[in-house]
Amino acid sequence: MNELTINQTRLTLVQGDITRQQTDAIVNAANSSLMGGGGVDGAIHRAGGPAILEECNKIVAKQGQMPPGQAVITTGGNLKAKFVIHTVGPIWRGGTHNEAVLLADAYRSSLSLAAANHLASISFPSISTGAYGYPVDAAAAIALKTVNSFLRENITSIKQAVFVLFDAKTFATYLAALEGLAERSAQDKL
Ligand code: ADP
Repeated sequence: MNELTINQTRLTLVQGDITRQQTDAIVNAANSSLMGGGGVDGAIHRAGGPAILEECNKIVAKQGQMPPGQAVITTGGNLKAKFVIHTVGPIWRGGTHNEAVLLADAYRSSLSLAAANHLASISFPSISTGAYGYPVDAAAAIALKTVNSFLRENITSIKQAVFVLFDAKTFATYLAALEGLAERSAQDKL
């Protein structure tokens, strides 16, 4: 099972490259400098072109480096997505440095920005589980639980939320986490 409907929103898991998604916004797992980097961040800037970095530079000039858990929105440049929502996940430091809260904050901030901009669809990568070293099992559970709670608790413009998982192992881990979430929410309704 790779789908779950929450209120008016369809949550879907796919394996693939987020830069090719056609949702209104794609989320970037950025770093605090918003200067681009490796992983999904590098891929988004390569595919989207220089307009994205120009806006990122203006944002940092105005408000400084972006702390983990927060998010900002820019143009999507040459991407199919109109917007990129840049959020910063936590760097994994053993799990005792507020990582779980900051990871949930990154997903919530991104969803809030999408809703504030009246977007109908958004795609997420697996934030923090690459260079930032967050264990994928734990991160997948937090990602899906946070998106599920947000969509349950807020009536928004968002009709479609997609997790775009790059590699087979990450995709399988998110699938298992979604099964767990669906079972728990079915039990809650009994
Ligand atoms: P972080 O620094 O937040 O850990 P990374 O970009 O290093 O971010 O990794 C986050 C996840 O994004 C990893 O699972 C990585 O495999 C994945 N990823 C890398 N490139 C892409 C892409 N083009 N589309 C979707 N996911 C990607």
